[in-house]
Amino acid sequence: MPIGLGTRRRRAVSLEDAASPATPRCPACAEPLFVWIETAGYGLHEDQVIDRCENCGLVLTRGVIPTPDAAAARLLSGAEPRDGSVSFRAANAASLQAWLGAENWAALRPGGDGIEPTRRAASLLLARRGLELRRVRHLAGPGMASMWQTLLNLLTFHRDFASEAASGRLRPGTGRGRAAFWTDAVVTVLAAIPTAIIAVLLESGAVLARRGGVIEVEAEPLPATD
Ligand SMILES: [Zn+2]
Repeated sequence: MPIGLGTRRRRAVSLEDAASPATPRCPACAEPLFVWIETAGYGLHEDQVIDRCENCGLVLTRGVIPTPDAAAARLLSGAEPRDGSVSFRAANAASLQAWLGAENWAALRPGGDGIEPTRRAASLLLARRGLELRRVRHLAGPGMASMWQTLLNLLTFHRDFASEAASGRLRPGTGRGRAAFWTDAVVTVLAAIPTAIIAVLLESGAVLARRGGVIEVEAEPLPATD
């Protein structure tokens, strides 16, 4: 019966077959990296090309594919030391909200880290820095906020409409037109409470299923070998 390792081997071969020598490689696992989604920009937002590794799940947004060391450094850029270990927060590319939102996933907003790991991708990148992944916590509160924004993005013409409009970066004349701007304003007001309730319900289930949108990763130095 074609299950287990044999199936996985065949999948790895087909990924390799689909790649040309010029196909970029995943900085975490070195498998070929393919475009996941392309987002259309508006106003000051540029179009984005977002890659995802079909093998380890790493998501990379914007710009040039980093080297493995650069990717590890980017992942650890906000890491804080804690009792001999380090911990950092990241958007979880293997989350319910990433799957549900795709290009509308709130974590893909401009100004983000540009690297969204899965548990496996984080583990591989941390090993490059001599670190071993110890624990992954799924954070309910931040995950709900991100799920809420993702659900709103699914309904509006402009992603991150409320924060963009409140900051003045998005105005009626600068985005996708005045009609779209005012439609988004009405939709945001009407949908704010229902989507907040749905976000709490969905994300609670996602956290229980270890598919939360925001993870806290804790890692320790690998034991020294002789
Ligand atoms: Zn990978």
